[in-house]
Amino acid sequence: MFKMSPFWEKTFFFLTFIFQGSSFLHPAAYSVMHRRHHSHADTPKDPHSPVHLKNIISFNLATVVEYRKLVNEFMKGERTITDAPRWHRLESIAESLWTRVAFIFLYFLFYVFFATSTWQYLLFPLHITMGSMHGFIVNWFGHKTGYRNYDSMPDNSKNTLPVDFLMMGELYQNNHHRKPKELNFAVRWFELDFGYLATSVLKRLKIIY
Ligand SMILES: [Zn+2]
Repeated sequence: MFKMSPFWEKTFFFLTFIFQGSSFLHPAAYSVMHRRHHSHADTPKDPHSPVHLKNIISFNLATVVEYRKLVNEFMKGERTITDAPRWHRLESIAESLWTRVAFIFLYFLFYVFFATSTWQYLLFPLHITMGSMHGFIVNWFGHKTGYRNYDSMPDNSKNTLPVDFLMMGELYQNNHHRKPKELNFAVRWFELDFGYLATSVLKRLKIIY
């Protein structure tokens, strides 16, 4: 959808590493999985379709297996891709188990210092798995629950929320599958794509083009 200069690409790659932390997702591996999803949406070849993987456990297991296989291929150099961001050194650091453990420890310290009540520790597992949790919510609910603007689409993509305040526009899957290269996922008057607003600002600042 957009490109950025090598400097900005590295900057955003680094920020992704910092903010995803323990649940860092390898950008190139995720992009291959995402393209596969678009090419085969809700067919048996789709890496994550709630139409074919009907329970949450098998759905997540299949996604993780497919994703980990791609990451390993990239890390071993068996798979290369030219149009997705790569940063070999940082990928090795971010994918390391020790790095993930270090982030989890930092999160834990944050809770120790800032939690005001014990129940808040219930959020700790969500905190650790934030990146993959986001993927799960979009991939599961976005192809299972909601309304459709484009009923002619052969897949099961849905717009889960009329105003997607939760996933910043990613839950307009039906709109997104109809126009995968469109930056703005919102099409109806009441729909609002917060991700698009963010990219509009970045475009205006000439960070992306
Ligand atoms: Zn989708």
